[in-house]
Amino acid sequence: MTVPMTFMREELDRMKREGLYGNIRTLESPQGAMVKIGGKSYLNLCSNNYLGFANDPRVCKKAKEMIDRYGVGPGAVRTIAGTMDLHLELEKRLAKFKGAEAAVTFQSGFCANLAVIPTLTDEGDLIFSDSLNHASIIDASRLSKGKVVRYEHSDMNDLRAKLKANAGPGKKLLITDGVFSMDGDVARLPEIVEIAEEFGVMVAVDDAHGEGVLGKGGRGIVDHFGLHGKVDVEIGTMSKAFGVMGGIVAGSETLVEFLRQKARTNLFSSALTVPDVAANLAAVEIMEESDEAVKKLWSNGDFLKAELKARGFDVGRSETPITPVIIGDAQAAKDFSARLFENGVFATAIVFPTVPKGTARIRAMVSAAHSREDLKKGVEVFAKVGKEMGIIK
Ligand SMILES: *Cc1c(COP(=O)(O)O)cnc(C)c1O
Repeated sequence: MTVPMTFMREELDRMKREGLYGNIRTLESPQGAMVKIGGKSYLNLCSNNYLGFANDPRVCKKAKEMIDRYGVGPGAVRTIAGTMDLHLELEKRLAKFKGAEAAVTFQSGFCANLAVIPTLTDEGDLIFSDSLNHASIIDASRLSKGKVVRYEHSDMNDLRAKLKANAGPGKKLLITDGVFSMDGDVARLPEIVEIAEEFGVMVAVDDAHGEGVLGKGGRGIVDHFGLHGKVDVEIGTMSKAFGVMGGIVAGSETLVEFLRQKARTNLFSSALTVPDVAANLAAVEIMEESDEAVKKLWSNGDFLKAELKARGFDVGRSETPITPVIIGDAQAAKDFSARLFENGVFATAIVFPTVPKGTARIRAMVSAAHSREDLKKGVEVFAKVGKEMGIIK
């Protein structure tokens, strides 16, 4: 390494010393209730594969069929190489599923935020952003020439105060996570919509963890609160409940047309691959047919949360299947995760910068793929390690 490049080694060493270095496990199996690591089987409590679709035979079958028909790659960006009817079919199905006028897909949820925020805001505009918003919202806001105004997490009084203090010309966009990914609490969307109407602000909600989870049969946060037509931009991902990959933006025909013409992640990055699109189509079809997986997800989440709480763990303020087990210190959370792993449970520690310093945690994720037996075993291991480490009595 050249001398100027040694900063990387130094930074990596610092991260290791401070317990902030991420140890990425190698899986030798598909995502599911159990995963294989180093030849051994582990209970998987850290995947966002909410509905268990990541390895669902119906989903895999559709991907294989469509590869035979369309190949794998989209060729180039859609505005140059054209777009396949398959992609348009998925977008129509998503709009219908969500009860929106139209929808457009992107390569990921991250790319969907990159499409929305800098495209809808410009020099002289303002972006009102919840202080716990996802990193992709923060980064997408940095790409906008508009100014970011942060309000305290889900604090409607602070939001009002910030809106009042920043009155004036220029477009205003409010953006919030629908479900806050590390705590599992739900945005106060009905109030947000009301306040936004009062102040003439566009509302965008990033429903990454509500898509396939909240609302009737997993139709998302807008459906959950019955706010159809009142939220200007619904952003989502197909990497979580859908079990695949891909971002969604749903809203009016005009919004979708605008993003197709102007969003840089559409103009300068190729579309989703054929197997992604096909697998996502199959996931929507399954969800349209039945809400069985969504119901199982919620009952599993309720069970895990109640059991861990009863054992004395701090499971925070979650209102969704996301189950944070808050430890506090980053190194302690890492040690906790390592001890869980020794006992056959794969549950990664989440530390700064994903969560604020001093709130390191294990974020336990259930899915519809888990059985009650799986979760009971998981709870026993949490309790054993928690006692050994003095986290619970
Ligand atoms: C996970 C997540 C994303 C990113 O989604 P990907 O499809 O994995 O890129 C964006 N926003 C929120 C709120 C998320 O939780």
